[in-house]
Amino acid sequence: MVDIYIRGGWIITMDSERRIIRNGAVAVEDGLIIDIGKKEQMDGDYKAYADIVINAERDIVLPGLVNTHVHLAQGLLRACADYLSLIDWLKDRVWPLQGNYKKEEALASAKIVVLEMIKSGTTAFLETGLVSRYGPDEIIEMIRGSGLRAAVARHVMDLKGYATKENILHEGLVELGDYSLKDTIRLIEKYHEWDNKIWVWFGPRTPGAVSVELYREIAEKARELNTGITMHLAEVREDVEYTLRDFGKKPVEFAHWLGLTGRNVVLVHVVWVDDDEIKLLSETKTSVSHNPSSNMKLASGAARVSDMLRQGVNVALGTDGGPSNNTYDLMREMKHAALLQPLRTLRPDAIRAEDILEMATIRGAKALMIDHLTGSIEKGKRADVIIVDYWQPHLHPLNNPVSHLVYTASGHDVKHSIIDGRLIMFNRKVLTMKEEEVLEEAEKAAWSLYERTGICKTPDLKWPVV
Ligand SMILES: [Zn+2]
Repeated sequence: MVDIYIRGGWIITMDSERRIIRNGAVAVEDGLIIDIGKKEQMDGDYKAYADIVINAERDIVLPGLVNTHVHLAQGLLRACADYLSLIDWLKDRVWPLQGNYKKEEALASAKIVVLEMIKSGTTAFLETGLVSRYGPDEIIEMIRGSGLRAAVARHVMDLKGYATKENILHEGLVELGDYSLKDTIRLIEKYHEWDNKIWVWFGPRTPGAVSVELYREIAEKARELNTGITMHLAEVREDVEYTLRDFGKKPVEFAHWLGLTGRNVVLVHVVWVDDDEIKLLSETKTSVSHNPSSNMKLASGAARVSDMLRQGVNVALGTDGGPSNNTYDLMREMKHAALLQPLRTLRPDAIRAEDILEMATIRGAKALMIDHLTGSIEKGKRADVIIVDYWQPHLHPLNNPVSHLVYTASGHDVKHSIIDGRLIMFNRKVLTMKEEEVLEEAEKAAWSLYERTGICKTPDLKWPVV
């Protein structure tokens, strides 16, 4: 007997040879992929002996997507901060909203983000920075219940600035250095490596909000506790001005000087970097999370993704948050990533659909240091598999499944999702969450937050609402 047998369709394996199997099949038992091959050769062994048989004749079967940059606390903030550049966006809208969260509201935000990610094909993600105000324990427990895999970073900080702007962090988000470091270690002791599903990382705030001493301590503790670090870096030009002005270093040099480079580090955005910095990222095996929608919307700049890939940097993909994207749909993010490089370089072949799908799957798993578990459909890996319905006008006829996934599909086309060998979504119904309740809770929480802060109370529209 096997637990799940998927038969038919195109299987994009993302294995070391990047095989694509037509009329393929996958057998799953005890959370593991135990067999993969051609349907006609596997049907006899599994079809009559599986608890669940999924007929995927008109589907694309691929590894679950890995979103390497998520803000769970920004799920209620969509359309609350349009038409602003990063620092004003943070200071005037995003931080005052997040700095006023009550725990139950932050949890409602995290739930709606998790639900959206499951419904759009994400099976693992990296949260960038929880703080005490949001109730990190409750949020981690909720993620456990949802079935998603997650590396959850908790913010560590001891200053209140952003780049050259001092004291601009909202009071409601300020934490002391010693406290934020100790609380991260507490969460690591409590949840890290839980069931190979949850990991707790250090999430130092962006340069300007952390002292050199604390950055160094974070780097040392992460090595000692065998965990990861994720941090925004070189997102906007002000980030470069700051590290040059105060430390005489370019952003990646600054991170390297602090010990914040290496296999266990995911630097986010990394837009304003030169060739030497790209070389340093490659040499140190530091991963980069590319978030094209956010970079375009906030007018931050276009990251040099094709150059980084050519230099051997592990670039992965992330959506960023509600007010900068404004979705958590990594399938749609693939398209934006694919379109931005030709625009930036004026070369139509600057990046290929295959590169983008690698960024959204196996490279993401590598960034999260879980590529031994997930990121591809291979014998012996945990079964994180999504199934996309191509029997729809916009995906039909299917002559190139990789091109269709990257340029044409969206998260709504994901029909089923399996995480760790467990069916999490079937025919677009999420089996681990009460969808209606999540929507209702989010609506209630959002309006009480808007009411309390006075931000986002009326829609930012040029047109009258009657
Ligand atoms: Zn971010």
